[in-house]
Amino acid sequence: MTIHNSITELIGHTPLVKLNHVTDGVKATIAAKIEYLNPGGSSKDRIAERIIDAAERSGELKPGGVIVEPTSGNTGVGLALVALSRGYRTIFTLPDKVSQSKRDVLKAYGAEIVVTPTDAGPDDPRSYYQVADRLAKAIPGGYRPNQYDNPNGPDSHYHTTGPEIWEDTDHKVTHFVAGIGTGGTISGTGRYLKEVSGGAVKVIGSDPAGSIYSAGPGDTIHQYDIEGVGEDFYPKAFDRTITDDIVRVNDHDAFLMTRRLAAEEGLLVGGSSGMAVVSAVRYAKEHDLDENQIVVVLLPDSGRGYLEKIFNDDWMRAHGYADVVEATTRPSLVE
Ligand code: PMP
Repeated sequence: MTIHNSITELIGHTPLVKLNHVTDGVKATIAAKIEYLNPGGSSKDRIAERIIDAAERSGELKPGGVIVEPTSGNTGVGLALVALSRGYRTIFTLPDKVSQSKRDVLKAYGAEIVVTPTDAGPDDPRSYYQVADRLAKAIPGGYRPNQYDNPNGPDSHYHTTGPEIWEDTDHKVTHFVAGIGTGGTISGTGRYLKEVSGGAVKVIGSDPAGSIYSAGPGDTIHQYDIEGVGEDFYPKAFDRTITDDIVRVNDHDAFLMTRRLAAEEGLLVGGSSGMAVVSAVRYAKEHDLDENQIVVVLLPDSGRGYLEKIFNDDWMRAHGYADVVEATTRPSLVE
């Protein structure tokens, strides 16, 4: 009999699936790590568990405490899941570009949310970072996990995501590709894979056009529509020495790939997943990776959180992605 004691026991151990249709012209194997199969629906479940464990041990989080964090949604779900099982209250601040369905999911998990303006930068007192800081200080028992600076974020990937990829590829993985938000995924997973392979595994970041991580001379820092990735500052969770290369992807190409992953591979994933796959395919082509190379690309979350945006034709047309809709929609039988 296999009965798990709590949903949190099911965090991690996500599968690798070969991409077969969106990889035209690529000789290497591209394998996607399907993080939406975590119980909260994203890779962020991993960091939530390790961050809360560590805060309990250090005494920063005490029984009856309140977890306050700025999050685009996924970290909130992970923290809420773990908090529920341990009796903590959760409050999340998020920028107003985050979709309604993501906000509703957080509320469904019992979290309280505070919505802040997207155009308020990190130095602005109205920003979701600063609002969270103020709440965590003002509320008795308040604890601010600070996923951008917390070493337990990257460490969770070092101890789980990295070893899973190494074992599931029979130690044959040659490249690892992931989007960079806090940088925790790429830094922790990448560090493990580099250590265990003696430096052989190449680590490739994926970043939205407009973000700081991939900005070269002449590139501007500006807003973009892909959620959960890119930044306008360097968080401590991102270790720049781990990435060998960073491939910059615009919203259009990321969203086209996101819709193709659903329609052609049966993978309903979010925009940062589409972005990461564009980076993987582009890198494999540009470096002419051959049949002996195995590229693992991490797909952080599910497309269910983007049904009224990337998967909504009206939203896509209104935001300048009409050709993506035309390219990925079959004609309806009934108009
Ligand atoms: N994609 C999505 C949808 C995310 O929510 C996040 C986390 N912000 C990432 C990618 C990037 O992960 P990390 O923070 O570990 O760099």
